[in-house]
Amino acid sequence: MIRLGRLLLSPWLLPRMPPLLAGLLAGLMACLAPPPLRAAPLAYEPVGLGWTAEEVERAGRGALEVLLERAQLAGRLGCQRHCERLARMFAQLVTQAQAQQLHSGSGLRWTLIVVRLDDVEAFALPGGQVIIGETFADQLGSEATLAFVLAHEMAHSILEHERQALTFARQLLPREVPRSVRDMYTEMEFNIGLVRAMEPVLHQGEFEADELGLILAASAGYDPLRQLGLLEQEAAEEPAQTRRIVSTHPSARERLARLRALLPLARRQMPLPAGP
Ligand SMILES: [Zn+2]
Repeated sequence: MIRLGRLLLSPWLLPRMPPLLAGLLAGLMACLAPPPLRAAPLAYEPVGLGWTAEEVERAGRGALEVLLERAQLAGRLGCQRHCERLARMFAQLVTQAQAQQLHSGSGLRWTLIVVRLDDVEAFALPGGQVIIGETFADQLGSEATLAFVLAHEMAHSILEHERQALTFARQLLPREVPRSVRDMYTEMEFNIGLVRAMEPVLHQGEFEADELGLILAASAGYDPLRQLGLLEQEAAEEPAQTRRIVSTHPSARERLARLRALLPLARRQMPLPAGP
């Protein structure tokens, strides 16, 4: 577990003492005791961001509705082959995310949506909706790899990467023009220079989602080494020199190298095997 602990006076000591002494001691402790400590959350409400979480979530919901409508019209909404498995794994990961208080804001409404569209792999929306393509899930060799994909996407929502990236983009544009979240998406669609300037922030978001995803899936019981299956495959297929006009993701090799360095820590998050 990576949750921070706190120091507390043990309350079960008091009833074993004579009532008067216990009362005096309790009064003294009440005077001396510092204000109650709050465990510091791992992820907290960021300050200085350009829009509220609600505004960013609302824009994300619009994009989701478009996707759902497309899947519905194509008769490809919902799972067919991995329903039980995906639901079970997602529930495990959500339990871990909630147990570790990884989001201290209004709370994410975790939802898993499966579509059978060949061009959809996996992504997450700021409000906690995780979307995965069943065809893509078919291609992932092991449950651990699938767990990593889901946990990586959940980490993007937990860490509010969309809101951070949008705010960064906002700083790169003329400030006297007010812009909504939708305006920003429109700008990014046509302004390739803007997206290119965002690369460091986008890459940093991917590294963070990788790291938190690995730890989250490990704490749900998925072997960290086996989680890396997809990235190992991508790194093996990746050309030595990739030249793209814009890269929203770092190279698979670099992501893999960073995650391999985290394996000892991730292994220690795994639950202990059940006793005899
Ligand atoms: Zn990602």
